[in-house]
Amino acid sequence: MAFCVYCGGPTETRDHVPSRVLLDEPYPPQLPAVPACKLCNETLSKDEVYFACLIECARVGSVSAQAIQREKIRRIFQESPALVVRLTQARTETDNGISFAVEYERVKKVVLKLGRGHVAFELNEPKHHEPHTLSVGPLMCMPEDVYGYFETPPHSSIWPEVGSRAMQRFVSLNPGSAGWIIVQPGQYRYLASAGPPVVVRIVISEYLGCAITWN
Ligand SMILES: [Zn+2]
Repeated sequence: MAFCVYCGGPTETRDHVPSRVLLDEPYPPQLPAVPACKLCNETLSKDEVYFACLIECARVGSVSAQAIQREKIRRIFQESPALVVRLTQARTETDNGISFAVEYERVKKVVLKLGRGHVAFELNEPKHHEPHTLSVGPLMCMPEDVYGYFETPPHSSIWPEVGSRAMQRFVSLNPGSAGWIIVQPGQYRYLASAGPPVVVRIVISEYLGCAITWN
């Protein structure tokens, strides 16, 4: 692939998908990486940090360093007091429990970038246009049937192109290879299906579920 998988611009660097702020150290060997332009590689990094911190705070219901479980997020909080203030202001506690107001445009941009990266890496199929659907939310907020659907890898009527990652996984002897790809157990998994429609689903921290489709 000679072009940035996010915008179709010139390839200037390689971008890890998922970005490392969503993973804990030690990182898994051979992290997926895709060609990207410098602009796409750099412009979203603040949003990615916000996204990773928001997920952790929402998951534990707190912004306090004692409650945060991911060491990386604790470190980010020490270095970014402004982000802590922002997330503290986003937190509400009522009789129904704790919730966080989400800066949805930022979340959407990060999820779309992840989806585009996974599709390019797995299916050799850059998707520069807008997706048909994009949804993000905690797994536990999904009704049971929706959750069951979300967890089930879609049936693909297209056989993958020779040489694509999906083809390698298709012929792989690893029994789990047709469905979810586990990047880091408990922290990040995804699936990509050639469809149609092309589908990417992502689970982060076994808390947040993301689904993107392109017709
Ligand atoms: Zn780009």
